[in-house]
Amino acid sequence: TTIDAGWHFDNSYARLPDSFYSSVQPTPVSAPELVVFNESLAKALGLKPEALQSSNGAAVFAGNQIPEGASPIAQAYAGHQFGNFTMLGDGRAVLLGEQITPNGERLDIQLKGSGPTPYSRRGDGRAALGPMLREYIISEAMHGLGVATTRSLAVAATGEIVYRENQQMGAVLTRVAASHLRVGTFQYAAQRGVIEDLRALADYALDRHFPEVEQGEGRYLRLLEEVIKRQAELIAKWQLVGFIHGVMNTDNMAISGETIDYGPCAFIDAYDPATVFSSIDSNGRYAYGNQPQIGAWNLARFAEALLPLLHEEESHAITLAEEAISDYPELFHYHWLGGMRAKLGIIGEEPQDEALIEDLINMMRKYSADYTNTFRALTLERPEDTVLHGTPEFVQWNEQWQVRLEQQQQSRAEWLELMRSSNPSVIPRNHRVEEALRAAVENNDYSVMHRLLAVLSNPYAYSEEQAEYGTLPEPSNLPYQTFCGT
Ligand code: AMP
Ligand code: MG
Ligand code: MG
Repeated sequence: TTIDAGWHFDNSYARLPDSFYSSVQPTPVSAPELVVFNESLAKALGLKPEALQSSNGAAVFAGNQIPEGASPIAQAYAGHQFGNFTMLGDGRAVLLGEQITPNGERLDIQLKGSGPTPYSRRGDGRAALGPMLREYIISEAMHGLGVATTRSLAVAATGEIVYRENQQMGAVLTRVAASHLRVGTFQYAAQRGVIEDLRALADYALDRHFPEVEQGEGRYLRLLEEVIKRQAELIAKWQLVGFIHGVMNTDNMAISGETIDYGPCAFIDAYDPATVFSSIDSNGRYAYGNQPQIGAWNLARFAEALLPLLHEEESHAITLAEEAISDYPELFHYHWLGGMRAKLGIIGEEPQDEALIEDLINMMRKYSADYTNTFRALTLERPEDTVLHGTPEFVQWNEQWQVRLEQQQQSRAEWLELMRSSNPSVIPRNHRVEEALRAAVENNDYSVMHRLLAVLSNPYAYSEEQAEYGTLPEPSNLPYQTFCGT
């Protein structure tokens, strides 16, 4: 019997040349159990929650049952991992297909941790429950914060053990994305050297993500420019909310401009550009303060991959590509500065705003002020809540800031409203995330995670409950560490 759960697949990626994917079935698991389900996202996708919050949902989201119309594949790609080029591919993920939503959107439905594929190399194709729940929490938090991101539809426990440093419970995450086209997908095509395949991929990306770009001459340069624009805006938003991706390899950068591949990511507490949480990033390549430049480096790899197409259009393709890349720092700065002005309630633009912002950042760095809570305290007009309060720098800075605010035509209520909508009162604090994961994984208690998700779904609400989630962890001698590939 087939249950109508609202699936409406159309699998355009699978119409690309064969080299871009391998058909593969998820490997069934012994005891599928649906442990988390995103009802509001399911509805937005046109799915029927009541049909999926059942044994059918458990079977589908664990990979035991393929929904009607799906056409499971693993995608091929390449990537620079910590600077080293490698041919890769979905080693533990399967794209079921593209769900066409009631709004006519086309969204990838991908199972992560669903068993080995031709690209698994030595990996087991599986994922552990803790890290999949972690991706669920952080990606949904990013969505709540207004940062473009893949979403999480469900986590299904597999009832099977995965072997890492220790034994862990296995799980499959269902990820929803505008697409899984990566910088690394283009690198894969360029490396293989079949220009017709590269062209098919570029045309596909344009059609799927930039339909406004017209057919004909110059469209591959436009593709480069549009991807650059989206990354500049995305990474500016990461910096503004204090998000560290942790593993900005080119295979983890989506052409759509969504944040993708949540591994060792985390949010900064005390402001420090050198912050690194990932246990494998010992050189700090992907430190908080390096993210904007790494974005530029990755985009240069994207431009290189497009060069064969750009050359066909223009003899001086390299110059044009370099010019496009050189726009990135300015685009990034534009978005970052605009966002920082909003965080300080500044509505217009004055040349001295940048110095005001820099001064605050320098103070936060000098006094190890908590990034999120500093802006929250300013928003709540409670500077006494920050460690900056009482320092000579802050007294002077606060005076300048107040003068700047009062120059504005707008009322205090208006700029405070802008601050509220620009400064989250809650972020997924590392210790809160860990607490939710422990309860779920060790005690099968998902209530802590659900409370956290509820609070994170509207981080700009400034509710009573959120205040409690803003408290910092007890001081610890051990720096917080995150791990990847688990
Ligand atoms: P990531 O670091 O998660 O971006 O993954 C890098 C590459 O390793 C991707 O091609 C993944 O599909 C692959 N990979 C990660 N974990 C596993 C695993 N457990 N089994 C097979 N492949 C994996
Ligand atoms: Mg194939
Ligand atoms: Mg990845």
